[in-house]
Amino acid sequence: MNLKIDIKNHVKNIIGKKISRKIVVFCVDDFGSIRTKNIDAYNKLVSLGNPISKKCIQKYDTLASNSDLKNLFDVLTSVKDQHNNYACFTPFTVVANPDFKKIRANNFQTYYRQSFFDTLKDYCSDYDNVENLWKEGIKTNIFYPAFHGTEHVNINRFMKALQENHKSTRIGFELESICIPAFPDEKAINKYTATYDVNSINDNQQLIESIKEGLRIFENLFGFRAKQFAPGAGIYSPDLNKTLFEEGVKFINVNRYRTVPLGNSKYKKKITFNSQKIYSGQYYIVRNSSFEPQGAETNRVALDTLNQIEAAFKWNTPAIISSHRLNFIGHFEPKWRDKSLIQLKYLLKEIVKKWPDVEFMNADQMAEILVSSEK
Ligand SMILES: [Zn+2]
Repeated sequence: MNLKIDIKNHVKNIIGKKISRKIVVFCVDDFGSIRTKNIDAYNKLVSLGNPISKKCIQKYDTLASNSDLKNLFDVLTSVKDQHNNYACFTPFTVVANPDFKKIRANNFQTYYRQSFFDTLKDYCSDYDNVENLWKEGIKTNIFYPAFHGTEHVNINRFMKALQENHKSTRIGFELESICIPAFPDEKAINKYTATYDVNSINDNQQLIESIKEGLRIFENLFGFRAKQFAPGAGIYSPDLNKTLFEEGVKFINVNRYRTVPLGNSKYKKKITFNSQKIYSGQYYIVRNSSFEPQGAETNRVALDTLNQIEAAFKWNTPAIISSHRLNFIGHFEPKWRDKSLIQLKYLLKEIVKKWPDVEFMNADQMAEILVSSEK
């Protein structure tokens, strides 16, 4: 292994609360959000000259189907930890999507949303059992959601683009897809997926209302209040922490260098450490590992993740592994998902072999244990 990467893996774990238990959690972003609706939408975009085939986020990402979830659950339940618990994904979930019909009926003047489970009703038959699979995943604690935002598009930018007839936005809209790449002859919209980015600080008031509604929708969908929040695209203002706290969010899940928007396209980076206190009872949780196989042909990505887990354990920190839904989606190319799942299965097998005292749990359980630890 590259010495520089090895040192980095260790340095990032030095500061933050310590715990001697070997806990592994997977924080997997983007579930619930639409992107490119389906293969028909994808083919239409390609035929119109859209560069979608060149970007894997847009090329492979869509809602997870029955078969995606079943295949994923099979892999998660292929291993057990010392307490007989299966591996667990915490899907950081976007709970709503644009309601295309209502927005169109209102002539693109007002934004309307619909819940993620309602969005599924407009999808093909491979989505007809998705809601039940989520509920089953929650019950068995192999797929236990946290909050990734109300939707995964910046509403102000989306509505402005629709009103100004921004080509890729309008064509995407007709195909019930969002944040598709810009056509070569138009300007891309900056930080389009950053739900909580602001054009001016005053926008935070509107975002407070959006967060409150998003957390209500979360509870309606899953039957419990969200305890943990990871902002879309990793951008959000700490001005939202108070509302999040009052609404029951105890943990804000971020990268070590989080991005704070200041308005007018200005940002500052804030360094954050694991279990850093925001208020009494609210803390930052920082991811310290990553697993993004993206259809990998070899074990290289899984081996990198194992090294990161080893470094986390060496510093008595849980392994908080960051990943994204797009790795595990087979709608556009089943092989893409299957190869990622082979890597996941390999990773999980190696984890239980290497650390027989490992503990799999969801990100809320881990965060509660971490912040209440004495060290
Ligand atoms: Zn995201």
